[in-house]
Order: sequence, then C-alpha cells, then structure tokens
Amino acid sequence: MATRDKAAEQLNEFKSSQKTPEQCTTGTGAPIGLKTATMTVGPQGPVLIQDFVFNDEMAHFDRERIPERVVHAKGAGAFGYFECTNDISKYTKAKPFESVGKRTPVGVRFSTVGGESGSADTARDPRGFAVKFYTEDGNWDLVGNNTPIFFIRDPILFPSFIHTQKRNPRTHLKDPDMFWDFITLRPETTHQVSFLFSDRGTPDGYRRMNGYGSHTFKLVNKDNQPVYCKFHFKTDQGIKNLMADEAHRLSAEDPDYAIRDLYDHIEEGKFPSWTVKIQVMTFEQAEKYKWNPFDVTKVWSQKDFPLIEVGKMVLNKNPGNYFADVEQIAFSPAHFIPGIDASPDKMLQGRLFSYSDTHRHRLGANYLQIPVNCPYKAKTFHYQRDGPQCVTDNQGGAPNYFPNSFSGPKDDPAGCEMCPFTISGECKRYNSADEDNFSQVNIFWNKVLKPEERDRLVENIGNHVINAQKFLQDRAVKNFGQADPEFGKKLQAYLDSMRGGKNKVNVVLNGVKVTES
Ligand code: NDP
Repeated sequence: MATRDKAAEQLNEFKSSQKTPEQCTTGTGAPIGLKTATMTVGPQGPVLIQDFVFNDEMAHFDRERIPERVVHAKGAGAFGYFECTNDISKYTKAKPFESVGKRTPVGVRFSTVGGESGSADTARDPRGFAVKFYTEDGNWDLVGNNTPIFFIRDPILFPSFIHTQKRNPRTHLKDPDMFWDFITLRPETTHQVSFLFSDRGTPDGYRRMNGYGSHTFKLVNKDNQPVYCKFHFKTDQGIKNLMADEAHRLSAEDPDYAIRDLYDHIEEGKFPSWTVKIQVMTFEQAEKYKWNPFDVTKVWSQKDFPLIEVGKMVLNKNPGNYFADVEQIAFSPAHFIPGIDASPDKMLQGRLFSYSDTHRHRLGANYLQIPVNCPYKAKTFHYQRDGPQCVTDNQGGAPNYFPNSFSGPKDDPAGCEMCPFTISGECKRYNSADEDNFSQVNIFWNKVLKPEERDRLVENIGNHVINAQKFLQDRAVKNFGQADPEFGKKLQAYLDSMRGGKNKVNVVLNGVKVTES
C-alpha cells in the first residue's frame, strides 16, 4: 500500500481520538433523530417549513463563506513561539524582547498574493509572511513578505497595482498587458520584479524561505529613546526554490503543495524555525543615509547596517481548525505594542489604515473578539461596545463613556507616554516616481546573483513578457537595461530568440496563458 502523508491521515487521527461519536445536535443543541431525511408530508414531499433541523443547517451553509482576502487569499497557518536570544533592551521595551530566554506565543500565516483562495501554492508571486505575537501588552503583528522590499513606494498606487495582478474586468482572465503596462510605467517596481522573476519567486514551500518586516519601523526603549529598525527572519531550513518548470508542474499536480508541506512537517514533529535578526539605524544616520530609509522599494545595505540576532521563531502546532484559526486570523501592521512603532514609510502608513479596515469588512467590527485574534495574554478594557457578533460579556455594567466618575477603565498618560516625533514640511502630493529606481537593482544583478541565476531571471521575465504587446516588451527591456545594460541586452536577446522560435516557453505566472513556440 502506498504510504499516506500526515495530512491524508487526519481523519483517522480524529477517529482514534474519539471513544464514541457524540450525539449530533442542531445549532441550538437539540438532539437530532434521523440526520439523513428532511421532514416531509408523505414519502414524496413537500418539505415542512417547521423542519428546523433542515432550515438551521441549510441557512448556515448558505452563509459559510466570508469574503476572501482581496490579496493574500490563499494561505497556510501555524502556531508556535518566539524566543528572545539576545538582549536588545537598549533599543526596545517591547515585551517579546524583555529578557533572554523569554518565549512569546506566535500565530503565523504564509500566503501567496495574487491568486484566489483555490489557486496554486507554487505560483510565481511574493509570499506573505505575517506573524502575530501574543504579548502581555496586547498583540503585535509584523505583517511582511518573503522579500525585504515591495513593488511601489506610495500607497495610492496599491489598488491599481493589485488590479493588474488580478483579472481583466471584461475577460475575467489574467492579462499580461495589464501586468506589464503598470510595471513598466512605474519603474520603481524594477527591484521587486527582479526578485519576483528570480529563483526566489517560486520558493519550495513556506518553510524554506526568509521573511521580512519589509518596512522601516521604530523601536523605543524604556527611556523613550527611538531608533529605526528592520526585521529579518532567516529560515533555519535553508533557502530552497523550485525551478520554473517544477513549480509549473506542481501547480497542476499538487496545487496545495505548500500547505501540505507545512502541515506534514509540523505533524511529524519536524518543527520549522527561523532566526530573527534586526537592523538598527539612528535618527542621525537616517538623515544622512544615501538612500531614503523609508522607501520600501529599497533595502538598507547590511554592510552599512549589520544584522543583529535577536531570537528564534519555532512553529510547533498546526491549526486546530483551518477556518477558525487561519481564515479568521486578522493581521494589521497597525497592531503595535509599547516599544515598537511606525516610521514615516508611506506604504506602511497606507497599510496602517487599510488592514484593520479590511478586517472590519471581512470579519466584522468585533473581529478582535475572535479567539485567534483576541489578545489573550493581555486584558482588554475599553469603551467600545455592541456591534454584530459581540461574543463577550460586552464589558457588563462598566460605564460606556469616558471620562466617568464610576471606576471605568482609566488611562495612564505618564506610564504609557508615546514617543514624540517632529515632522515638518510643505503639505502636498509629492511625485515619487523617479527616486533612484535602479541603483539597488544594479547591485542585485551584479553582486548578489550568480551568472546562472541571472540567466534564469532573464528567461523567467522573457517567458512572461513575451505574452504582452511588443511596445510593452520594449519598455521592459528599457527599464531592466537602466538597472544594468547587460540585463537589458540579455532580455532583448532572449526575446529575439523566442520570436525566432528558438526557445520553448513553458512558464506560467498566476495562471497567465503562455505562448508555446
Ligand atoms: P549583502 O551582500 O550584505 O546582502 C545581500 C543579501 O542578499 C543577503 O541578505 C542575502 O541573504 C540575500 N540574497 C542572496 N542571494 C539572493 C537572491 N538570489 N535573491 C534575493 N536575495 C538574495 O548586501 P546588501 O545588504 O548591501 O544588499 C545588496 C543587495 O542584496 C540589495 O540591493 C538587494 O537587492 C539584495 N538584498 C538585500 C537585503 C538587505 O536586507 N540588505 C536582503 C535581501 C536581498 P540570504 O541569502 O540569507 O537571503
């Protein structure tokens, strides 16, 4: 008999955990007699409206789906802990870094970005890497990706950018013209697009990739002194990527490859872990740095700002129930705790609004009462009340207004003083289209990629952009050529060879149909 993986054995495991099956009930707890027949007038029907057993189940079934996430719809989750391994209290008073050896529970969700919730795990796409730290000061969410950078630097472009990664509104198909039109009109995307079409654009599951907070954040210590910071999660499993043809094959044969890989490894006790590191930049260094440190299309060079190890993240528990623990988990970059704060990064600022807004739409105003989102290591007392699906005691008889004279929860201006910051500048819409879009791509091309990795990058881009119109191909060649002339020339040569029928195209990005010569 073929061996079955842990995920395939899940139902057998449930069965062996049950001595005898429980009595089946309605949602109200009433025991059910015959579960396989509706209540009818005579053996041929019709069905009686008084059949609550049927109505209760069917009406709930009709409402089973909540809106899927607009981005990051397909994902896998797991739970575990973060362990602090290095004292960084001089930088931050945040609870997870309070003392060496301290463990903080975490919930993590990995995801693809552009595809729907049934799409293939191995699509060429960035991967979401979101971590929720359940701390005594409330939940801190670090909502990043497997890349240290992002496509755009101004959040007003985000809805348009995502539209181009999704479906054409008329054909309901992925559209290479949409994709390459936007990308090539906004050359600040060149750095991230180069990561996307490199080998790391198709990681071999979620365990074998790095994670990054991506944005610049602010750390604040107990004396209220701030520094800027970046977060890096380096996989202890080692980086492993799928070659384009393998990713393509798996997208047909095992579209849930990454979910299965994570589930099976945790179930088998092979717990994946990541070494967590930070980069630190003082405010004075930020003023003088050669690149805008708040531009998320760029990294901070590790030669200028070396990585400092701070801890380890271990995932040792699978979700008890996918919907409850993964579909409903709601991350927001705005979920900070004392000791960690926002920077001026425009993309981060846009996300601070957007994520919680999405969850209020997707899960409701009381999304923070859902167990997986509930800050269970802290106690919450506030003046928010009511709303759909309030499942707590709604704070009982406590006053629902502030200030009050009746022992309602009080504030603590001295104890929870915010770290003040000074901002000045003329208020207007600043065009950031041309803020050094290519110098870090040049370094990536010349100093990071090996020659064979460069060739594969060119092939992966060529195999995709060939499906867009010629003028878009030309614009792409021009942009990559601005990063490095050799990059542009190689892409042009590859496209020419494809037009001449010399190369067979076999790559799919997010389901875009490709031309075979
Ligand atoms: P470094 O040489 O100090 O760092 C290069 C980084 O690239 C390392 O973090 C390395 O770490 C990562 N890397 C190696 N191979 C690849 C690859 N094929 N795809 C993506 N990342 C890779 O140089 P700098 O910090 O000065 O950065 C130089 C360039 O490296 C940047 O312009 C950027 O393009 C890229 N980069 C920089 C990162 C940063 O945070 N500074 C992070 C990732 C990439 P690892 O193999 O562990 O991921």
